Amino acid sequence: MSIQNKIHELQAELTPAGCTLVAVSKTHPPEAIAQAYAAGQRHFGENKVQELAEKAPVLPADIHWHLIGHLQRNKVKYIAPFVHLIHSVDSERLLEEINKQAQKNNRVIPCLLQVHIASEETKFGWDATELLAFVQSGILTNFTSVKIEGLMGMASLTENTDQVRQEFAQLKQLFAQLKTLALPPNVAMHTLSMGMSSDYKIAVTEGSTLVRIGSTIFGHRNYSV
Ligand SMILES: *Cc1c(COP(=O)(O)O)cnc(C)c1O
Repeated sequence: MSIQNKIHELQAELTPAGCTLVAVSKTHPPEAIAQAYAAGQRHFGENKVQELAEKAPVLPADIHWHLIGHLQRNKVKYIAPFVHLIHSVDSERLLEEINKQAQKNNRVIPCLLQVHIASEETKFGWDATELLAFVQSGILTNFTSVKIEGLMGMASLTENTDQVRQEFAQLKQLFAQLKTLALPPNVAMHTLSMGMSSDYKIAVTEGSTLVRIGSTIFGHRNYSV
């Protein structure tokens, strides 16, 4: 199926569920992104700063670019002028740097806090208890040039769909719990970023408001090119 048809099919499935589709275009060339764009897709996700910074200038200016991969503090400056949403905020020090670069660019940068929900050790993110303490500490009020719009999480890479469902349900529960708290003015729980090609259907039934889908749209990734 063509990229255009895939976009149309996913949009028809996700839009009624109130779920935003972010097309994850990492490793794929601008031509592939342009095909998805022609099908009406406007939200695209990349996981590497350099790749994002190279692609954005050669593609239409009304694309909303999402940074979904682990972000190093020394690279924030390259995407700060234009990034639409950073999904992978996993430390106070990173948030501090995003705030600083946002100020330099005279803008407010929307961010999600990444939560560690998978059983694997390698996935980044806050533990639920750490995150609750951090949000309630009041520290976030200092970061006036960032806006926390919700949470992001990645489930374990496993065939065990019950486990995946449980991990998404946990994240949804944390999201709902945060909504009930008195939050700082620059924090609002609107966006729950969970679900990728292999598990987005489960994520949507568990309350995802945004899915990050790559290979289902663009095909398999070839990392050697
Ligand atoms: C690559 C990636 C995705 C998309 O993965 P697919 O399996 O290709 O849909 C989603 N989220 C993150 C954080 C990624 O790095």
